[in-house]
Amino acid sequence: MASNRMVFLGPPGAGKGTHAAWLAEDRGLQHISTGDMLRVAVKAGTEIGLAAKVYMDQGKLIPDDIMIDVLFADISDTGWILDGFPRTVAQAEALDKRLAEYAAELDGVVLFEVDRQTLIDRLMARMTCEACGAVYNRLHRKPLVEGVCDVCGGKLQQRVDDRPEAVTERLAVYDKQTRPLVEFYDRTSRLTRIDARGAIEDVRLAMEPLLP
Ligand SMILES: [Zn+2]
Repeated sequence: MASNRMVFLGPPGAGKGTHAAWLAEDRGLQHISTGDMLRVAVKAGTEIGLAAKVYMDQGKLIPDDIMIDVLFADISDTGWILDGFPRTVAQAEALDKRLAEYAAELDGVVLFEVDRQTLIDRLMARMTCEACGAVYNRLHRKPLVEGVCDVCGGKLQQRVDDRPEAVTERLAVYDKQTRPLVEFYDRTSRLTRIDARGAIEDVRLAMEPLLP
C-alpha cells in the first residue's frame, strides 16, 4: 500500500533518520522530527511553544496533547514521515484520534529492524565533530583524515552516549518503551517490518513497495 502519512520506528543506530530524510526529499514529503519542531516552536515563542516550555523548564515530560498540538501546528496535507514520535501507545492513540478529527488516518508504520550486535557495532563506530556536529562512522563513513572533520577541520570524538555502557542502556530503554508500540501497530495491521541490516541502497529497495 502506498503511504503518504507514515511513522518510522526503529532503535538508535537503525538508520531511520537517514532513511526518513532521503525519502522525504525524494518524494516531496515532510520529514517531521518532533524534537526539532518543539525547539523551533519554543524559540519562536508561539502559544504552543510557550505551553511546552513550562514543562521543559521544570524538567518534566511534555504532555501528549501538547506534543500533538506542536505537531499539527506545522503539518503538511501532502504527506509526511514522523520520526521520533509517537514513543508510547498513549501517544499513538492520541495521534489516531487527532487524525480522525481531520478525517485522515495513518497510512503506514515502518519498523526498521537491526539485530542488537549490529546496532552496538554501528553506534560505537560513530564519531562526531566537536566543532560542527558532523557525524562520521568508522565502518562506512570515514573522514578523509582520521580524527579530523572533512567539513570544518574540527576534532572528531565519540559522543558520551555512543560509549559502550550508554549504548547498552539506550537500547534497553528503546526495547522497553517501543515494544508495546510495535505490538499496537501490529495488532491494528499497520506495521511493516524492514530488514535494515544491509546497505542503505538495499534498505531503500525494500521500502519501495510502501512508498507513494
Ligand atoms: Zn566539523
